[in-house]
Amino acid sequence: MTGTRLSINADLHCHSRVSDGVLTPTALAQRAREGGVQLWSLTDHDELSGISEAQEACSRFDLAFVPGVEISATWAKRTVHIVGLNIDPSNLVLRQGLASVREGRVARARRIAERLENMGIQGSFEGALRYASNPQLLSRTHFARYILEQGYCSTMQEVFDQYLGEGRAGNVRVDWAKLEDAVQWIVGAGGRAVIAHPGRYAYDATQADAFFDIFKQLGGEGIEVVTGSHRPEQFKKYADVARQYGFLASRGSDFHAPSESHIDLGSLPQLPEGLKPVWHDWV
Ligand code: AMP
Ligand code: MN
Ligand code: MN
Ligand code: MN
Repeated sequence: MTGTRLSINADLHCHSRVSDGVLTPTALAQRAREGGVQLWSLTDHDELSGISEAQEACSRFDLAFVPGVEISATWAKRTVHIVGLNIDPSNLVLRQGLASVREGRVARARRIAERLENMGIQGSFEGALRYASNPQLLSRTHFARYILEQGYCSTMQEVFDQYLGEGRAGNVRVDWAKLEDAVQWIVGAGGRAVIAHPGRYAYDATQADAFFDIFKQLGGEGIEVVTGSHRPEQFKKYADVARQYGFLASRGSDFHAPSESHIDLGSLPQLPEGLKPVWHDWV
């Protein structure tokens, strides 16, 4: 591995309006290019339909691109997100798997709206729907935008702290893809499975160890070390995890919207030294 590969400005995690971002794939590609990104991936939640537009934009902008996805999965009764990178978006098993994951979202959104109504927030199903380009991908982010619009809170963080986050009424749990299925769909589509923002899961050390072990046994290869969801001290912590488990390291802003994301495309620090990047054999 050469130093150049490590220091390339790779941003391998972000969302377009196809899922819960606000920009089109083309606008994101342009923003990535302008932000200095040299290798980019679009990783919409549970959906691949933005990839062809992203790919076309990237060939116009001369930006290296790998198709991606962020799969909502359930392991040990908790939600984890698994990013699939360099997948073949035409793979049927992956496409059918993602369709099955999307199925639960409308009914869940109805329940979120009921709970919010009990907390005094009216009309949130229709309100959230206005922010979603596809009702099958209605997410808490769309509810959060409606709650902000209606003036119940003044920041996204406040909305999640009060209404939608861990332990709050609006955080309606569902069974997403099984972890083993999510990894298998990605690997079967020729991609690399990567644990997204590990610092966001409320696991104790024992559970985290079990999760990393099982993910690896299932064929998972990578972990996000530098992400917009981690604090700088977590970059170091998950660099250690990557070394300990022999995971490839990934880097991605998890950019959703100019007004919401504190880390822009391409503006993250580099991976810590001594890690093998998930893109080591793609560039
Ligand atoms: P869902 O898939 O419907 O459960 O929604 C999850 C999405 O909510 C994530 O992909 C993030 O975009 C967003 N989200 C979760 N927690 C937070 C938070 N604390 N602040 C801002 N956005 C969040
Ligand atoms: Mn999201
Ligand atoms: Mn995520
Ligand atoms: Mn994400």
